[in-house]
Amino acid sequence: MTFASLGLIEPLLRALETLGYQTPTPVQAQAIPAVLAGRDLMAAAQTGTGKTAGFALPLLQLLTMEGPKVAANSARALILCPTRELAEQVHASVAEYAQHLPLTTYAVYGGVSINPQMMKLRKGVDILVATPGRLIDLFRQNALKLNQLQTLVLDEADRMLDLGFSEELANIYRMLPKKRQTLLFSATFSDDIRLLAGQMLNDPLSIEVSPRNVAANTVKQWVVPVDKKRKPELFVHLMRKGRWKQVLVFAKTRNGVDALVDKLQGLGINADGIHGDKPQATRQRALDRFKSSDVQILVATDVAARGLDIEDLPLVVNFDLPIVAEDYIHRIGRTGRAGNTGEAISLVCADEVNMLSAIEMLTRQTLTRQMEQDFEPEHRVPETDASGQVVKKPKKPKKPKASGGGGGKRNLGKWVDSGEVAPAEPSIKPVRKVPVFNTGPRKKK
Ligand code: AMP
Repeated sequence: MTFASLGLIEPLLRALETLGYQTPTPVQAQAIPAVLAGRDLMAAAQTGTGKTAGFALPLLQLLTMEGPKVAANSARALILCPTRELAEQVHASVAEYAQHLPLTTYAVYGGVSINPQMMKLRKGVDILVATPGRLIDLFRQNALKLNQLQTLVLDEADRMLDLGFSEELANIYRMLPKKRQTLLFSATFSDDIRLLAGQMLNDPLSIEVSPRNVAANTVKQWVVPVDKKRKPELFVHLMRKGRWKQVLVFAKTRNGVDALVDKLQGLGINADGIHGDKPQATRQRALDRFKSSDVQILVATDVAARGLDIEDLPLVVNFDLPIVAEDYIHRIGRTGRAGNTGEAISLVCADEVNMLSAIEMLTRQTLTRQMEQDFEPEHRVPETDASGQVVKKPKKPKKPKASGGGGGKRNLGKWVDSGEVAPAEPSIKPVRKVPVFNTGPRKKK
C-alpha cells in the first residue's frame, strides 16, 4: 500500500517523500480514508504507531479542499493535546506535513505569555494545536472563536483525563459547533474514555491497531532487581557496561529527577533533567540538546516526557517504575517506534513490587528479570507474573533451638520479612481511576 493509493493529494505526498515515509503504518492505512470520507473516529493507537500523521494528513487535505477561508480570531481545526510538549511535537509534525499547502498552523499552551498567542490568532489559523487550559483562556478573552471549527482532534485523550482535564473538556465541548468532525485518539480505552467518546463522537468508526493495553512488541523489556539505595550506582554501572549513548531515563518525582541528574553530573556524565517545575524554555532546551546528542542522558518525569519524539531512541530506562501502570506503556513507547527495535530496562526495588505486578497484568506479560552481579538486592523483590499475583514467599521458619523447647517464632504467610522494606505504595490498580467526564455545569469550588 502507498500513501497515493489512500487518495492523498500531491503536495502531501511530496512532503511525505521528503520525510522518508514510504508506506503507511496500520493506523494511517485505516484512519486516512475514514477521515477523508468525513467519518468520526475512535482510534486505539499508542505513541509510536504513526497516529499523528494518521489524523493530520487527511485533516490537512480536507482543509485544503473544502471550507471557507479562515476568519479573524478563528480556527478551522483544533487539535487538543494533554501537555505543552506534545502540543509542540504535534504542531511540528503538522507543519512538516503542511509545508507545501497554503494553510496556517499554530500551537498554544500555558506556561508562556498569552499576549503573543492572542496577537497571532488575530488573523485566524487553519489548524490550532492547544492544551485545554490555555484554549479556554483564549476563548474567554475573545481571542478565539470556534464557530468556524470543522474538525476537532482529541489526541491522547486518556492522558487528558488522567491529568484531570475532564472539566476543561466539558467546557470546551460546550464551545464547539454541533456540526463538526471529531477524531479521538487514545492509547487505552477505559470506561471514562468510552463515556467521553459517547458524548463527543457521532457514529464513530473504531480503529484498533494494537491489542488493547499491550506495549509495543518491538521493544525488548526486562527488569533488574536492586535495592533502592543502590539504584544510582547500578545505573552508572549498566551505563558504562552497555556503553549507552543516548538514554531517556524516567524518575517518579521532580526531586528524583534532580537528585539523579546531580549525581550523574557529579560523576562527569553529560546529563540533564526535565520536569514540570522547570520553565518551558528550559525544558525545550534540554530536549533539543538531547535530540542533537549534546546531552547523553535525559532524566524526566512522566508528565514532562509526554510528546517527546526522538527518532530511533534506542533505550529507555525506568529508574523508578511509574505509579500508574499505564504510564509504563507511554514510557516505553519512546523507543521501538515505527518498527524500529528498542530496549526498555526497569530498575526495580522491593518497594515497587506492586507496581511491577500491575504493569505485568496490564501488558499481559511477565517481564524477564536479569540479576546484575554484585547488585543482587538484600531486600528481595517478590515474584510476580502477568496474572497480577505477587508470590508471597514466606520466610523460612527458624529452626527450633535445641534448648528452647517451644520452637522458633513462625512467620508463615508474611512476605515482607522484618528486614525487608514494606511496599511504600498502597496496592496499585492496573488501570488508573480517572475523573468522569462531566458535561454538566462546572462545580462551584
Ligand atoms: P507518532 O506515533 O505519531 O508519534 O509517530 C511516531 C514516529 O513515526 C514519528 O517520528 C513519525 O515521524 C514516524 N512516522 C509516522 N508515520 C510514518 C511512516 N509512515 N513511515 C515512517 N515513519 C513514520
